Order: sequence, then C-alpha cells, then structure tokens
Amino acid sequence: MKYTIAIDLGGTVVKIGLLYNGGIIDCIRLESERSMGLKSNLPRIKKAVEVILSRKNIGLEQISGIGLAFPGLVDPTNNRVISTNEKYDDACSFDLEKWAKENWDIPFHMDNDARLAVIGEWYQGAARGKNNVVMMTIGTGIGTGVVIDGKVLYGQHFQAGSLGGHFVLDYKGRSCSCGNKGCAEALASSFFLPVIIRQHPDLSDSFKEMAGQITFKEIFQMATDGDDDALLLRNECMDVWSAAIITYIHAYDPEVLILGGGVMNSAEVIIPYIKEKVYRLAWCPSEKVPIVPAELSENAALLGLEYRLTHQ
Ligand SMILES: [Zn+2]
Repeated sequence: MKYTIAIDLGGTVVKIGLLYNGGIIDCIRLESERSMGLKSNLPRIKKAVEVILSRKNIGLEQISGIGLAFPGLVDPTNNRVISTNEKYDDACSFDLEKWAKENWDIPFHMDNDARLAVIGEWYQGAARGKNNVVMMTIGTGIGTGVVIDGKVLYGQHFQAGSLGGHFVLDYKGRSCSCGNKGCAEALASSFFLPVIIRQHPDLSDSFKEMAGQITFKEIFQMATDGDDDALLLRNECMDVWSAAIITYIHAYDPEVLILGGGVMNSAEVIIPYIKEKVYRLAWCPSEKVPIVPAELSENAALLGLEYRLTHQ
C-alpha cells in the first residue's frame, strides 16, 4: 500500500490531500481562482503538494500516483478535459498529465469531480456494498455521478451520469451557463443564486437587495428563523432538487440516492423535505429508494481518486 496525492479542483476551494488506505493523512485548502483559469492555479497547487510531502517526510517513491478531480467533462482514458462550464475555461487546451509527469513523474489520473465523489462514497461511504447508486452534489453547481450494475457509468463520450445538473426541469426556464434552458442548476444552485433572487417575482425588494451577498447557508438559517422570503426561496430550491432526484430515480433506478455538497449542512431540513416529495411523486412501485446524506462530506472525490489510483 502506497500513499496517493489527490487534488479536488472545486469551484470555490481547491483541496490537495495526501491519502493512505482510505484515510486523509494531510490536506491543504486553497481559495480557488477559477476566473483566472486553470494555468494560473497550477503553481500554487504544485507548491501545496511539495509542502505536504515535505512536512510528512514522504518521498515520491512512496506515492502510487497523483489524481485530479475536475468540475467539467473529462476523458479519463486520455486524461483530458473535454468541456468546461465557466470554471477553469482554459483547461481543455492544457495537458495536465504532462504537467504531472514533468513535476513528479508518477502515474496520473483525472475524472469529473462528481463522478469521483460517487466512487468515493461507493468505496467507503454511504454506498458501500451497493451496486446501483446515484449521488447528487449540490455545491457551486449541481453535479451527479452514477453507478449501475456495479459499474461506474461513463457512456460513449464520458458524460453519462455527469449531467444531472443539466437535466431540464423547465424547458421555458432561465438560460443556463451550458447553453440550455431551465436546467436544475439554473433553477437552484449557488452559482445562479444571485440571479434567482433578483428575477424572482414574489420576493420582497429588501430581500432582493441581498442578492449576491447571501448564500444557501444564510437562506436556510433565515428560513428557520421564520423569514417569509427565505422560506419561499428555500422551499422552491428544495422542490427543484426533488424534481431532479425524481428524474434521476426514473433514469437510473438506484438502490440508494446520496446527497452531498455544502447545503447538506442543513441535511436535517433537506432530507425529510425531499423524501416526502420524492416518495409521493416518483414512480417506484417496487420500493422507496433510500435518500441519505453523503458520509465523506467534502472528501468524497479525494477518496474516489485514491480508489482509482490504487485499484487499477
Ligand atoms: Zn445547463
């Protein structure tokens, strides 16, 4: 058993972890500069890897490989970014495998971040021992990853299972950053929250003034405290997530559906609300699909990378 270095290139935070046998030995978190593109973030990431190896006194000969979780469409067989969506938009033209080889000369693996998160939860989180799994990560955007019949879903162009945030819930709805209209992500995600608040016909003017400043964390807190605007917005967003989940269940027929991402700090509100809605509306004659919070919180993609680098 060797150590693994895993990098999770998130929309707001980049995490660089040192892993060993399913555990995170060390981790550095950096504020991401996604608007600056990928290339400008790489020197800081390289430095963080060196800091971790040095302070844990670990040599490259003890490392099985280095992995990268990317928030876009990825071809993991060629280690290339296929397409981005307003996050690290220069990544398609960049050879990350070459970057890793030049810096460390150890095996490299990359994949979509939400797909790696489902692999992590499958490896040692909420989906251990299951053969049919859907994971929805509600972070800056909405990501999904799917395991069907014991295999991670990829499809012809490596995008199967990854585009749950862009399932259309309202074909006349708001334009999404992907070019489509009415995607789940455009209707209820952190990335779109300012515009969702500003364009909402029923929110008060004083609430709209907070658009761009408040996050789901504040909205859930305000709703708990009885603020009518926050309550309306919170419930509408949970309705969107529920509708998306019903579609995932219809599409993928999972035995468990895992919910992850930053909003799950409010799991005690979200899980019962979504369960009530999904169990009432989804066409599931055989049995109700358990809807459970992720167990690995923000570390799922890092652990998914460790699995990939040590089990191939
Ligand atoms: Zn979209």
